[in-house]
Amino acid sequence: MTTTETAAPKAERWTAQWKELYAEVITTGLCTGCAGCVVTCPHDVIGYEHEEGKYIPFHLEEELGFDNCIHGEKGCTTCTRACPRFRAWEPAADMHLYGRLREPDEMAGIWRQLLLTKAADDSVNEVGQDGGFVSAMLLWLMKNDYIDGALVSGVEADDAWKAKPVLARTPEDVMATAGSRYTYCANPLALREAKEAGLNRLALVGMGCQTSSPPTMWDRKAGKVSKPFHFTIGLLCSKTFDDAIFPELFEAKYGLKKQDMVKMNIKGAFQIWMKDGSFHEIDLKECHKWTREGCKSCPDFAAEHSDIATGGIGKDNNWTLTIVRTELGEEVINRMIADGVIIAKPAQEDEVAMKLLRTLSIVSRRRWPEWADKAPSVGVPPPKKKADGTAPAAH
Ligand SMILES: Cc1cc2nc3c(=O)[nH]c(=O)nc-3n(C[C@H](O)[C@H](O)[C@H](O)COP(=O)(O)OP(=O)(O)OC[C@H]3O[C@@H](n4cnc5c(N)ncnc54)[C@H](O)[C@@H]3O)c2cc1C
Ligand code: SF4
Ligand code: SF4
Repeated sequence: MTTTETAAPKAERWTAQWKELYAEVITTGLCTGCAGCVVTCPHDVIGYEHEEGKYIPFHLEEELGFDNCIHGEKGCTTCTRACPRFRAWEPAADMHLYGRLREPDEMAGIWRQLLLTKAADDSVNEVGQDGGFVSAMLLWLMKNDYIDGALVSGVEADDAWKAKPVLARTPEDVMATAGSRYTYCANPLALREAKEAGLNRLALVGMGCQTSSPPTMWDRKAGKVSKPFHFTIGLLCSKTFDDAIFPELFEAKYGLKKQDMVKMNIKGAFQIWMKDGSFHEIDLKECHKWTREGCKSCPDFAAEHSDIATGGIGKDNNWTLTIVRTELGEEVINRMIADGVIIAKPAQEDEVAMKLLRTLSIVSRRRWPEWADKAPSVGVPPPKKKADGTAPAAH
């Protein structure tokens, strides 16, 4: 045999830098605002504004204009290696986590077990958005020395609904940051605080747009910045809203003041519970105007690249739909069940939730643009035609 016949094909050298990220992701509407590129940049030249109408990275240095980077020109490629929307990100993350691509029919991604879970401790179950599983898991991971901190979402001291990325280091921090806020919170940004505190075994809690970042970085060899992510816990998600929805819709139209809200949820409608005991449901179609731009092309409902993904689509309110995806996720969940910190049952017995998981995953995948990398669209069935033969309106 000749040498040419035996040689393995050479992997193409990765040369893409900020210039390509800007042109292919940031200006095309694919950018989710996950902040993966921001926290990995070794030169600290990518800024981010965690504010209404923003949630998009921008370049801080102006030598080559805002669409190019002097470090990129010299060979730095870290930002594109970290971006879970750049080119073939879905196959990269699939291959790294699961060693294979998803089958065309695996609309909600690859998984090992589908469970409904709830925290056995009532105080954790109560503070949780659904079954309190995520908080129970963070508490267990800390107690059992898997992690020394978690990147989660807290709130501003003067505004209980203004989400901000927070580092949770203690059980008290975990309990204080439980529950869901439906505005965007780029939890990876809390990595800076973790680094300053010298913590390097972390869990990342976040929507799929955020939890796909570590496996993309690992696959594309982004370097030591990707090492502290030891565990990813995904949150199922169809969209997040701009903060302006509070004054412009909830207060202006319905008289619901942010400071009087005690809980919110999205179950078919935007549900809001108030301090005075009243409960309100607002049609999601009405809320659509405040959907963040970055969510409108997002194909990932089921947080398909996380160790464990979680959601609230079960028929019972205080259980968490729990999608165990990786070997590590399975090891932890089995140990949590054995330790009695969570109660678990097969999710397949909730047929409505199973159907919804598939339907909502398909609806999200249909948003992925045709001109972008094909992988997220593989196997996605076309929308059914209406009785009059026309296609339904895009979501
Ligand atoms: C914006 C958003 C949209 C969602 N959409 C859906 C949906 O359409 N369908 C569905 O089934 N489930 C959805 N979920 C997931 C669901 O609301 C619960 O988070 C999940 O079921 C876990 O519940 P739990 O009781 O186990 O979690 P908990 O124990 O309450 O822990 C929740 C964790 O989420 C973190 N968190 C809260 N808000 C945010 C935020 N804005 N950004 C990042 N992290 C946050 C908290 O810090 C905490 O660590 C969504 C969650 C969020 C945050
Ligand atoms: S999707 Fe995330 S990593 Fe990619 S450009 Fe946007 S903020 Fe950066
Ligand atoms: S829909 Fe959810 S997962 Fe997708 S970009 Fe928006 S916040 Fe992220």
